[in-house]
Parts: sequence; structure tokens; C-alpha cells
Amino acid sequence: MKQPYIIANWKMQLSLNESLSLFGEIDEVLPEKNKANVVICPSYTALAKINEINTRKKIKLGAQNVFWEEIGAYTGEISTKMLEEVDCKYVIIGHSDRRKYFKEDDDVVHHKLKTVLDSSLVPIVCVGEDFQQRQEGKKDYTIISQVTKAFSGIDFKGNEKVIIAYEPVWVIGSGQAINAEDAEYMHEIIKQTIIDLFGVGIFEKIFKIIYGGSINAKIVKTFLVQPNIDGVLVGGASLNADKFLEIIKEANDIY
Ligand code: PEP
Repeated sequence: MKQPYIIANWKMQLSLNESLSLFGEIDEVLPEKNKANVVICPSYTALAKINEINTRKKIKLGAQNVFWEEIGAYTGEISTKMLEEVDCKYVIIGHSDRRKYFKEDDDVVHHKLKTVLDSSLVPIVCVGEDFQQRQEGKKDYTIISQVTKAFSGIDFKGNEKVIIAYEPVWVIGSGQAINAEDAEYMHEIIKQTIIDLFGVGIFEKIFKIIYGGSINAKIVKTFLVQPNIDGVLVGGASLNADKFLEIIKEANDIY
């Protein structure tokens, strides 16, 4: 049975008080028998405070970014250890917002990934083609290249966990997802790229592939029933408790 990941990325959208009350609203209603793995990635300030009220631990916490060095004079950065201290379990790496506004490239993603794999955190590595790359017929090439550059040279022991989030960049925040079959095709490309790099055994033990880009409760099932879609990364719809809970309910209803 699939235990799909439903991961919320709150970006820089909420104040501390808004974050705490949204978390409370979601946590309160989340069923005890919840099959989905629910992860919320708030801002850093909210992360520490939410950890204090997250007594049920039904929701796991994630960060939206991390630095590749473990300690030192890196003004403005945050380390894996600092995230671990607030019981953070997941961290997003290489989100398209980071690639676009902070010029993070595949090399940066690779460095961060290596550091995260040396910690207890599970990396959520974002990849995705932009509209032009898709229009020019380069979507497969772009994804293979991003995945290969991020993962090449990583030495997996077999006990790690990695989530890859496929997020076609132009549909993020647009209200219009790609169709689920299209996403499934791209997930197969990602799966094959990882198998080519590390073999099928490592893929099956370590990797999950989730989809992100304008997911809502109406369409989430069409994605989660695809054989190679292990969950969803949700931006806009995770900022409203009812909408996010509805997505979780839809996911629970499938299995
Ligand atoms: C995202 O930013 O990762 C995302 C999936 O956003 P949205 O759901 O709003 O498209």
C-alpha cells in the first residue's frame, strides 16, 4: 500500500501567528488513522515555534532551504544541525524559487544534497523544466540533466531516504496543473535516470518521487493513482486549512 507524501510549502507567505494558527487548525482535524505522510514546511521562525506545539507528531516538519556548510561565518544561512535541533525531519532543496531568485544551480543543489544526506534530514530535491524548455521539446533532457547533476557521485549506503519533487516550473502557482499522465511520464524519466545511476535496488529502497504544481483536492487523486507518483508538494492550497485537509482526505480515501 502506498503511503503518499502530502507536503506543504508555506514559502514566505505567513506571519508567525498565522503559521501557528494554520498549523493548529490542520493538526486538530488530522485523523488519527491517517495513511498519508503529512509534512509542513513553514518559515524558519515558525518552524521552531510550531515544533513546541507539535505534541501529537502526526505532522512532520520540514524546512524550505538549508546551507551546505555545517558551521561557520555564513551570515544569513542555516545548517542541518540547526534544523535538527527543532525536530525538523525534511528539507526542500533547489526549489524553483531558489533557482530563479537566488541563482541556485545544479551544482549548489548537489552540494546541499551531500550535506543533507550526512544528516538525519530527508532531502526533497526539486527539479522541473520551464515553459520554454518544454516548448522546445527539451523537457526530458532538462530533467535528466538536473537529476544527473544533483545525484552524480553520491555514494548511497542504502539506509537513506530521498524525495524528488517534479515541479514543472510554469505551472507552479498558476492554478493549472499539467495532467496526471503527463506527470507520470516525467516521473518515469526521473525513475529511469536514478536507476541508470544507482541501479534498481537503490531506487526502490531509497527514492520516492512526488509531483508539485497547482495541486488541489479536485485533481489530487488523479495524480496519486499513477504508479510512479508517490505524493504531492502543495504550495497555494496548503495555506488554507480546509483546502489542505481536503487534499489529505482525498489521499486517504484512495487506499
Ligand atoms: C510550489 O511552490 O512548490 C508549489 C507546488 O506551489 P503551488 O501548489 O501553488 O503551485
